[in-house]
Amino acid sequence: MLETIPLYSQDAYQQECEATILAITERNGIILDQSIFYPTGGGQPGDVGQLIANGNSVDILTTVKDRDTGELIHVAGEGDIPFQVGDKVTAKINWETRYKHMRMHTMLHLLCAVIPCGVTGGQVGADKSRLDFDLGEFEVDKEQITENLNKLISENHSVTTQWITDEELDNSPDLVRTMSVQPPRGVGKVRLLKIGESVDLQPCGGTHVKNTGEIGKMLVSNIKSKGKRNRRINIVWDND
Ligand SMILES: [Zn+2]
Repeated sequence: MLETIPLYSQDAYQQECEATILAITERNGIILDQSIFYPTGGGQPGDVGQLIANGNSVDILTTVKDRDTGELIHVAGEGDIPFQVGDKVTAKINWETRYKHMRMHTMLHLLCAVIPCGVTGGQVGADKSRLDFDLGEFEVDKEQITENLNKLISENHSVTTQWITDEELDNSPDLVRTMSVQPPRGVGKVRLLKIGESVDLQPCGGTHVKNTGEIGKMLVSNIKSKGKRNRRINIVWDND
């Protein structure tokens, strides 16, 4: 397996980086030694952008993790790739879209704080996002969720990450109890995303903003029934 240093995991705000091509796959996939391109995962779409070298530019249509090898693949459009293994390239992501993903993604963490129920699915988008909840007896109201969500956003909570080992997890049962999603075990260490002192804490490998105030005003556009206990909460930007 070819390893790519995930720069997006260290600094979600980095829009550009230099990298070296490690491989070009048969299906127009490009593997780099390090990358700012976030791969599709955790309900967040993979990044789009360009790789530039020697006066040539290649559009990257999406970024994925190979299902078999786990390698980070920058998926180029059709046509010949004017690069070779060993070439140094400048990698640039489409920042406008990515920043919207970061704001939407962080907002969904806040939604978990507003609705303290099990999450059964979700999707981050640049224009709308959703989370599905197993509500049980919990009652939801569109206006109330919108209000509570915007309150948390406007409180300017800091968004930070911390790494925790399986051993630390085992030694801190209180920490696990306060998490809205239980961390996977047996993978060595897990990245936790923490909002404020106690707004939300859960394992997550996605890209987030540094402060909830960056998200901006949101609106619950509708709540759809997805079975007896499941409800889909759809959220859009409130541009008014
Ligand atoms: Zn996240």
